[in-house]
Amino acid sequence: MRVVQKFGGSSVADAASIKRVAQRIVDTKEQGNDVVVIVSAMGDTTDDLLDLAAEVSPKPRARELDMLLTAGERMSAALLAMAINDLGHTARSFTGSQAGVITTEKHGDARIIDITPGRIESALDEGDVVIVAGFQGVSQTTKDVTTLGRGASDTTAVALAAALGAGFCEIYSDVDGVFSADPRIVPGAQRLPEISYEEMLEMAANGAKILHLRCVEYARRENVPVHVRSSFSNKPGTWVKHIDEEDPVENPIITGIAHDRSEAKITVIGVPDRVGAAADVFTTVANAGINIDMIVQNVSVGGGTTAISFTLPQADGAKAMAALRSAQEPIGFRDVVYNDEIGKVSVIGVGMRSHPGVSATVFRAIAEAGINIEMISTSEIRISVLVDHADVDKAVRAVHTAFGLDADGQAVVYAGTGR
Ligand code: ASP
Ligand code: MG
Repeated sequence: MRVVQKFGGSSVADAASIKRVAQRIVDTKEQGNDVVVIVSAMGDTTDDLLDLAAEVSPKPRARELDMLLTAGERMSAALLAMAINDLGHTARSFTGSQAGVITTEKHGDARIIDITPGRIESALDEGDVVIVAGFQGVSQTTKDVTTLGRGASDTTAVALAAALGAGFCEIYSDVDGVFSADPRIVPGAQRLPEISYEEMLEMAANGAKILHLRCVEYARRENVPVHVRSSFSNKPGTWVKHIDEEDPVENPIITGIAHDRSEAKITVIGVPDRVGAAADVFTTVANAGINIDMIVQNVSVGGGTTAISFTLPQADGAKAMAALRSAQEPIGFRDVVYNDEIGKVSVIGVGMRSHPGVSATVFRAIAEAGINIEMISTSEIRISVLVDHADVDKAVRAVHTAFGLDADGQAVVYAGTGR
């Protein structure tokens, strides 16, 4: 069988960890499998390289940054191959480019457009264990090396699993799988034996850091089941896969609760209550290349103006504020206010399609915890509320309990980061 395994940064943080992972890979190989391994940079290497770049240059060119960052994964790939070779198996490491990961040309956030795994195939044919540096590829147009965005080794792994026709993809990190909520916040959070692609997409898009969003998108599109598990144990993890909703097996209404503290809220005050004002505000933000998330517009009471609030990544806050300030006169609003002391709590589950009253339960639980809701947004299988930064943990716990998701015994508390 062809097995594709990805190991995150915390699983290969130092020499001892690399040897431990090498042994695991060799065990898989000795069970008669063809093994392809995707690896992240060791520990905090990517962050360290970014810090180093910042010390050298205030605004490095994106091309050079990608040359620098891709070195992190090259290091761990080569070291892992060495460790496997010492265990009596031949292993060969490849950069993303050598492995045939073809991407768009956008540095720092390139997308995989094709995989041409010829070299991987021939290495497998020769009996080698293949190690591929994750998170990177090469643009066919510029011929330059690209990176796929933070955490994107997951995406490399799923893309290779699909291209190589592996039946599934294993993603190893330092946590036991996907939990019903962050176990560091909710002691009674439970490991989910399985979760649907749709639910995992909502979890990943709303702050759960366990899997890269694009990895889940890719897995759903190519129908690659993903097994998220710990490299520190042999326990089964969580299967992210297609789940038939009509399945007679009893499904819980709510699958998981995600939270996100990385967003900010901008409120545009005194917006003239005229046709096209909201369009002008959001065109301004869109033209600055910024994606927004939640939106609320308050109805004007007599005064002929409205207030519009929306959320966006904190990282884009300064850019959005500058764009809006420069559009203040033409649009004619009175003021614009920035607040990053907020957090989003999202309740996710395909069961809410068929069960009434889910939002009422969410809002009631949050109210009873004494927490004020600032904004609400929903999808077919998600309800998100925006609350004060300081209330996020309490809100997550309240909702987790309200839906009966707390485990009886106290779950193991993890220090893991899911890398
Ligand atoms: N090393 C990269 C990062 O830290 C990619 C990854 O770990 O998946 O974001
Ligand atoms: Mg990761």
